[in-house]
Amino acid sequence: MGVSGEGPRRLEGGQSRCPDCGLPADRVATLEHASVLLEPDMMPLAHTVPADHRWIVLSDGRVALYGVCPPDPSQRCRIEHRLACPARPLPDLWPWLTTRRGENGRQAERRAAPEPPED
Ligand SMILES: [Zn+2]
Repeated sequence: MGVSGEGPRRLEGGQSRCPDCGLPADRVATLEHASVLLEPDMMPLAHTVPADHRWIVLSDGRVALYGVCPPDPSQRCRIEHRLACPARPLPDLWPWLTTRRGENGRQAERRAAPEPPED
């Protein structure tokens, strides 16, 4: 709207800056009375975002994690800025895949090791 500058922080949040990269992001209240820093101007389809990272906007403007599986194919969501922040490492988005990679890494090491002598 016509508000300019840094006004008093509204209850539902507002434009904020990432403390790590300095880019603008949206500070939005969550159902749990805390708030999250969301990536602005971006609403990816929920099914393209890991379940633990989908925030959907509620009718009162607050956001909540959208853990419905499988998600509605047309549902859009918001993501936390930390996922897109250039100043922070990407968190582990797919823990089960990370586990699998670890298992495969150990398996590959075993294969590379010399075979134990057979009797
Ligand atoms: Zn940032």
